[in-house]
Amino acid sequence: MTRVHIIGTGISALTLARTLLKGQLGKTLRISLIDKARAPGGRMTSRRVKRAGEGRSGSDEGSVVVETGARVFQSTTPDFRAQCEDWRAAGLISEVKLDRLRGVRAVEGGEKAVSSADGNDETWWEAGKGGWTESLIPALTGQISDLAGDRLEWFYNTAAKPVHSNSVPTFEPPVDAGRPDIVVYTAPTPQIVDLFPGRDVPKMEYRKTFALIYPDMRVSSHTPIYWRGPCSALSAISTGILDNGESRGVVVQAEPEKLGVEYDKAISGDEVVKAAFERVMREAKLDVDLGIDLDGKDGEKTDDTATAQSSESSTQRWQLKRWKFAQVASPPRREPASWTTDDGQLVMCIGDGTSEHGGVQGGWESALVAAKEIEQWVERGAEKST
Ligand SMILES: Cc1cc2nc3c(=O)[nH]c(=O)nc-3n(C[C@H](O)[C@H](O)[C@H](O)COP(=O)(O)OP(=O)(O)OC[C@H]3O[C@@H](n4cnc5c(N)ncnc54)[C@H](O)[C@@H]3O)c2cc1C
Repeated sequence: MTRVHIIGTGISALTLARTLLKGQLGKTLRISLIDKARAPGGRMTSRRVKRAGEGRSGSDEGSVVVETGARVFQSTTPDFRAQCEDWRAAGLISEVKLDRLRGVRAVEGGEKAVSSADGNDETWWEAGKGGWTESLIPALTGQISDLAGDRLEWFYNTAAKPVHSNSVPTFEPPVDAGRPDIVVYTAPTPQIVDLFPGRDVPKMEYRKTFALIYPDMRVSSHTPIYWRGPCSALSAISTGILDNGESRGVVVQAEPEKLGVEYDKAISGDEVVKAAFERVMREAKLDVDLGIDLDGKDGEKTDDTATAQSSESSTQRWQLKRWKFAQVASPPRREPASWTTDDGQLVMCIGDGTSEHGGVQGGWESALVAAKEIEQWVERGAEKST
C-alpha cells in the first residue's frame, strides 16, 4: 500500500483523490484527506443565509444560498469542458447564460464567445441546487468514499504543519494518520513561502474582503448573477441562488481599503462598513436595478412582502461578513512543484497557482498533472525495488 496525504479538500484535492483512485494505482493506495476547515470545499464553499420572516427556525426553508468564493467559473479547454458536461449531466452544475454575467471577458461586446482567439471554448458554469456545498462538493466526496472504501480517512479541523526533514521541507502527519509516502499540499500559503525559503512554491497572499449580503432582495430579471468590478471601489456583485434556481438576494464584495474602512470590527463596526458600501454604490450610479433602496428602507423598493418587519427580522435584512481568502500573488507556476526528502518521501505543491489557467479550472488541471507524476514516481520506485 502506498500512503498518500492530501492536504486540503478543495477542488484540487478532491480531483486528485478521485483521479488517483480511478487510475492504475487505485487499489494500492491508502489516502488521507486533511483540512483545517470543518467541511470540504475550500474556496468553493456556500453558506445559507436566512431571509427575513421566512421559514421555520432550524430549517433551510426561506434561505438564500450565497457563495463565499467562486460564484461562477469558466471552462476554456476541451478536456475541462468535457468534465463540466459530465457534471452538468449529473445535475451538479449548470451553464450560465452569458447575459447574466458582466465585466468578464466572454461577454465583452455582449455576445457569447463560443471560441476564443486560440480556438478554445469559453463556457461559464454555476453550482447546481444548494450551491457548491450541496451539489458538486458532496458528489465528489461521495465518489471518493465509494472508490476507496476503508482505504480512506477524512480529517477536518486539522491543520497540517510544515516541517523540515533533514532540511528538506515536508508536512508533519496529523496524529493517527501515520507517516505517508507521498504528501500533496493543495493550498500554497504565505506560511509555506516563509517556512520553505528558497523553495520554488507559488506565492499566495490573504485578501481581506467584506461581503455585504442582502438576503431579502428580489432582483430584477436583467440583474447579472455575477458582475466583476462594476465600479472601482467594488470587487464584485453577485446574486444568491434560490432552491428553484431563481436568483434572489444580493452579495456585494469589496476590500476594506477600497471602501476606506478598517477590516478590524473594533475600529469599523458593521454599520460603518455598510454605510461605506452604500455610499460607493450610490456614487457609482450602477446601471442595474439591484432592488436596494440606498436611501434608507432596504428591500421595500422591489420586495413588497418586506414591509412591516419586526425589529428582530429587520436585523436579518442585511448581514456583513468579513472573509479572508488566499489569492495567488505572483504569476502562477505552470506546473506543480515537487521534491523528494532524504528519506524518500515525495512532496508536492499543487493547486490553482500551479497551472496555466488559475481558478477552478487551474485547480482541476493541476490535480491531473499531479496524479500522472505520482503514478510515474510510484512506478519508478517499483522498478528500482525489483
Ligand atoms: C471571492 C472569490 C471569487 C472567486 N471567483 C472565481 C471565479 O470567478 N472563477 C474561478 O475560476 N475561480 C474563482 N475563484 C477561485 C477559486 O475558488 C479557486 O481557484 C479554487 O476553488 C481553488 O481550489 P483549490 O482546491 O486549489 O484551493 P482551495 O479551495 O483553497 O482548497 C485548499 C484547502 O486547503 C485547506 N488548507 C490550507 N492550508 C491548510 C493546512 N495547513 N492544513 C490543512 N488544510 C489546509 C483549506 O482550508 C482549503 O479547504 C474565486 C475565489 C474567491 C475566494
